[in-house]
Amino acid sequence: INQSDQPVAREGDAPDLFSKFDPLIKQRADLLASGIEDPFSLVMERVLSPTQAICNGRETILLGTYNYMGMTFDPDVVESGKQALADFGSGTTGSRVLNGTYQGHRECEDALKEFYGMDHAMVFSTGYQANLGIISTIAGKGDYVVLDIDSHASIWDGCALGNAEIVPFKHNDIEAMEKRLKRIPEGAGKLVVLEGVYSMLGDIAPLKEMIAIAKRHGAMVLVDEAHSMGFIGENGRGVAEDQGVMDDVDFIIGTFSKSVGTVGGFCVSNHPKFEIMRLVCRPYVFTASLPPSVVATAATSIRKLMHNADKRAHLWENSRKLHKGLKERGFTLGTDVPQSAIVAVIMPDLERGAAMWEALLTEGLYVNLARPPATPANMTLLRCSLCAEHTSEQVDTILGMFERAGKAIGII
Ligand code: PMP
Repeated sequence: INQSDQPVAREGDAPDLFSKFDPLIKQRADLLASGIEDPFSLVMERVLSPTQAICNGRETILLGTYNYMGMTFDPDVVESGKQALADFGSGTTGSRVLNGTYQGHRECEDALKEFYGMDHAMVFSTGYQANLGIISTIAGKGDYVVLDIDSHASIWDGCALGNAEIVPFKHNDIEAMEKRLKRIPEGAGKLVVLEGVYSMLGDIAPLKEMIAIAKRHGAMVLVDEAHSMGFIGENGRGVAEDQGVMDDVDFIIGTFSKSVGTVGGFCVSNHPKFEIMRLVCRPYVFTASLPPSVVATAATSIRKLMHNADKRAHLWENSRKLHKGLKERGFTLGTDVPQSAIVAVIMPDLERGAAMWEALLTEGLYVNLARPPATPANMTLLRCSLCAEHTSEQVDTILGMFERAGKAIGII
């Protein structure tokens, strides 16, 4: 592979279409030249449990997965996947609207309807496609999407695909959101898109206030609960449940790639015309459906997540303990108090962030190194995401690792 930032010679004066990546290629080459292990090419050689793996030949505690509820090795989940693989084969080889809807896809949608207490559920092949599909299909040319500036890439891409007018507002700023809504021309279609938990800093949205304002201005509301499902709210339905506003949300988007522990995405809704989406939503129609084993594991996991209050309580304990311990040791965190299962540690710059990431890996701890454009305000973050299967002792071990690495790199 030519990793150099030198232009590749071309016929005539046509530009090398890769030249726009030169600054990134250079930044990456400089970072690796400093001797640091590539943070974006780690391989899990073996996965021992939801919280432990072998990485680079070393036993490593996993603190950078989205396996919040630790369902990936749940015996019932694994067994249902094996059974579906044996009974229905390895894949559907088709779209949901042709040959790709199996019994398991229906059962998965039934589990979602029950989990959220909603009339309709539509399963997509990923959460990315769920946002892409729903947003682009309901908000088209001439419609307005009002969204938080820190929204996930799949939300922005959904707006772009639908060709809607995009109206971003400052992160979690209620007044800024209302101001934007007021400026939208009368009679235009309006969709407000919010997230329950924002995944970079782990902070939650003031959904109650924001949704009340959105409704007052006649907007429909979509909430992405990717990082709260299974954990936040009395029944694990998310931040909208926790803040008592489930009935005012028109669409909830979620994913199977986090608490559910497999892959896939979904939208649930009470909109009476929702089922028409199956015919008009291109990222649903023009792609293959999930394999039978995947929807079987998802359905089993979702049903088990309905009755998981003890695990939810333990995950909150873990989050509080890690947040408190890191703060006491002098780290700068993304939130003053723990608001979710994500605890973000703010690094002074990419170089020290990468060095800290590597020092932690050497200690035997994996966290996510997050950098722009994924992060807000150009921040470099070490994102810790906790699992309900982390023991209290593991959290103590993690804190010791952070302390040693933080002192060695000069962060604390
Ligand atoms: N929405 C949010 C807020 C996310 O963080 C993510 C994934 N990180 C997605 C959607 C997409 O989910 P998936 O992994 O299922 O594509």
